[in-house]
Parts: sequence; structure tokens; C-alpha cells
Amino acid sequence: MMKTYFKIILVLFAIVLINGCGILNLHTRNFNDATLIVPDSISKYLFFLASDSLKGRNTPSEGLDIAAEYIASNFKKFGLKPAGENYFQNFNLVITNLGSENHLKILKNGNINDFQIKQDFTPFEMTANAEVKAPLVFAGYGIKSKAHNYNDYQNIDVKGKIVLVLRHEPGEEDSTSIFDGKKSTEYSNVSQKVKIAIEEGAIGVLVVTDPLNHSNLTPRGFPWPSLSKTIPPDALPMTLNLNEPKVPVVQVGESVIELLFGSIDSLKNIQARIDSTLQPVSFEFSDIEVNLKTSTIVTEKATKNVAAYIEGADQELKNEVVVIGAHYDHVGYRRNSEPGTDSIYNGADDNASGTTGVLAIAKAFSELNTKPKRTVLFLAFAGEEKGLLGSKYYVNFPLFPIEKTVVMLNLDMIGRNNEDSLFVIGASHSPDLLRIVEEENKNINFTLVTSNEYFVGGSDHASFYRRDVPVLFFFTGEHQDYHKVTDHAEFINTKKLARVSRLAFRTAWRIANENKHYKLIK
Ligand SMILES: [Zn+2]
Repeated sequence: MMKTYFKIILVLFAIVLINGCGILNLHTRNFNDATLIVPDSISKYLFFLASDSLKGRNTPSEGLDIAAEYIASNFKKFGLKPAGENYFQNFNLVITNLGSENHLKILKNGNINDFQIKQDFTPFEMTANAEVKAPLVFAGYGIKSKAHNYNDYQNIDVKGKIVLVLRHEPGEEDSTSIFDGKKSTEYSNVSQKVKIAIEEGAIGVLVVTDPLNHSNLTPRGFPWPSLSKTIPPDALPMTLNLNEPKVPVVQVGESVIELLFGSIDSLKNIQARIDSTLQPVSFEFSDIEVNLKTSTIVTEKATKNVAAYIEGADQELKNEVVVIGAHYDHVGYRRNSEPGTDSIYNGADDNASGTTGVLAIAKAFSELNTKPKRTVLFLAFAGEEKGLLGSKYYVNFPLFPIEKTVVMLNLDMIGRNNEDSLFVIGASHSPDLLRIVEEENKNINFTLVTSNEYFVGGSDHASFYRRDVPVLFFFTGEHQDYHKVTDHAEFINTKKLARVSRLAFRTAWRIANENKHYKLIK
């Protein structure tokens, strides 16, 4: 008898010990997610968010603000704690319009060449409201990447000078290129090239289309309404005010290339040399001085992310956070459409479905008897359609430390296509997370596609991924109504939407009760 009693104590002691160090997660799962997340009860969120009355939830707009209030009032009803200011993370959108005073003058061998806007040069959306005058340096593709062991700035000093860079990247059309073969890397982004030029000390940037792979060298820059008869006046670039330094940035065309390089062919030859050797061919132009002026008119408009959380129950782990997010904005409505025709982009799948998923998961967590060990933060982002603005703002001004954010689960377009297919993107970068999703899927039975890399940058998880937070992006794929006025709620498969939400919920529940960190392999 004594012996058995002693054995029981021993076993119990072992269990506590093992559980203490998180090897066995004994946070008993005393719930049935199929009863917590039910298609019929979550449809109301979907139909409201995708209704005509919200006019396609453009950023910023009245419809978007109504949606924000709706999401916040539901978070409140579920008993979630408010994050930010009373459930809102308010921020300003910066809307930039082109001013009238812009010039590009190039002094060569004592002669001033005065170029025409639009015909010879066009400012980009990130340009500064400033004028600069300085020598000019050719800096190849304007790329500096340790990962690729490539640096166009290696042998040149561009401090206080203006740089001229090629668009795209070495080996753009070469499937064996070190820059991810034919796929473009972030280094092809003009904004990335400008960021590097500024870090190197440049005070202005001229961008040319690389002639080796592209025959049309028209200096498009940004399609400013003021430089066109067809572009609607409010189609202006929208960014965030992240206090980043700015310089004048313009795209220049053939006339400028010919003045500087003598011919398009000589620039082609230089580009070919860079591509074949992957060595920089950067140099300072002699007898050249550039005077560049761009003017902008900046206005700011307010918008907001919606944020609420469940505080973790574990003394230690509550300082770590699991983020579950979705963008609640879409693209608004068509102006000047024929009376009686459908002009509203309802965005039922994109992304009233994901927002519905976040609400359903929040409600499910709030109804659990046992609170999760880690804190769970629910986020609805504005401005995704305008360039991931809400999530970008969040990772720059996080409500919980980014370094304490163990995982971000993103739900974007989770209500269409065949019953059992589901993409879980980002899982291939996190084997631990992949294992959890696959285990939890055993109860939901999707055919998971986890190897697809195509969308790793396509939605709000990308903002977190760029800050080295492991991510899982739940997505049911594109379809014929994508970004069309026909993306209506009645085409959403609410059973599928509920199943996706249940899988994300189960996955989040596991992560929120584990005492582990998840590797991110980039
Ligand atoms: Zn979307």
C-alpha cells in the first residue's frame, strides 16, 4: 500500500515537473471549437462589413470609420480589453500631391540643359519638397546587400552628391541570378534604392529604366493627376509619416541618358558588364552638375487600426503576445458610374471574410473557461489596400513590443474557392508552426498548401515578417471577383470561412499556451 501511494506521489511530481518546463502542454483543451465558431452566427459580421452602406470601406472614408466602430463595439461586447486609445490605434495618412515648381537642369561642360517635366523627368511619390545642386555619381542598381555579397557603393563616395541608379536588379531576366532568379527581390523597389542612397549620404536620386531588359524608357515616375488628363484628381499616393529622411527623387528618360552616357547603348553595355560580373561599375561623372528641384503639397488625414486583447494568465508568458489580424479596409466605390449600375467594391472576401474570422476567434477566446497563458492581441488594420499602411504603422508604433510578439496570424480572403483547399503561407519559413498547423488541421481536414512563396509579401503579415516575427497567412486564393464590384457576401462560403477561423483559432490557442519560441528561417 505504502509503496503504491509513494508511486502516485512520484508520478504526480514528475507530471508537475514536466509541465513546469512546458514539455507537455497540459493546458487542457476543454472546449469544442466547432460549437464556438458556427457559420450561421458569424455571417452577420460578414454581411454587415460587406454591405453597400459601408461603400467599400476605402481608406480613409466614412464607411471605414463605421466599420471600425462596429468591430470595436463587438470586441467590447466580448469583454476584451481595449488596446491603444479605447480600442483604436489612431494614425495619420500622408497624402502627397505634386507642386508646380519642379525642375531638372544639368550643367555639362559649361552648358545648362533644362529638361521638361513628364517628357524628360517625373518625380516619384517619395520625393521631397526640396531643391539640391551637386555633382552626379552613377551607382549601378543602387543596391547594397550583404546577403547577396553585392554593393554598388563599394568604390564611390556619394556624400552630399546626387546619384543616378538603374531600376530593377542584376540578372532580372536570368533564372539563375543570385537575386532570386527571375523573381524580383525588395532591392528592385525604388523606395529601397532611395533608402540605401540616403544612408550612403546622397542628397538626390535620379532613376533610369534599365535599357538591357526594357525598351520603353519613358520616365513615368509616379502617375500624378496634375500631369495627366485621365487620372482622377484624388488618385494620390498615400503614405505614413515615419519621420524618415527624404530627398528629391525623379525618374529620367532617354534625353538625360543620352546627355550623360552619349547613347542608350553605352548604358546598356555598362549594365551588361554589371550583370555578367556582379561587380559594381560605379563612377562620378566629370564636368557634370545637377540642379534638381521637386515640390510637393502634403495633407494629412486621420484613420485607425482597431485593437483589443485578452491578457495572458501566466505571470511570465503574459508579457508575450500572439497577434491575430486582418485588414478591414477595401477600395471604396467607382466614381461617375452609370445610374443603376453596381459601383461599390463590397470586398466581401477581401477582406470582410478575414475581419469576420478575427471577430469569430476573439469571441471564441472570450468564451473559454481558461484564459490563455500568453496575451492574445486582435488587430483590424486600415490602409492595407494602399500599401499595408495600417500594419506598417503598427510595427513602427507597436502596442506590445515587437520583440515580445511570438507569432502573427493573418487572415485575408478566407471565404472562397473549393471546399477543402487552403493556403497557409509563411509556414514554410517556420517548421515549428507548420507542425502545429498540420496537427490542428487533423480535426478540420483542409488540404493545406504550405509551400507557396508567391504571397509571402502580399498582405499585412509581411509587415511583421519584415520585423522577423514568424507569420502564418491563411488564404483561400484569388478568384474571378477579386477586386471587382461583384465580390459580394452571398458568394462567400461561410462554412469554409468558419472552418478556416477554427483552424486559426486552434493554432493560436496552442501557441498562446506554449512556453516556446518559433524559429523563422528567411
Ligand atoms: Zn486583402
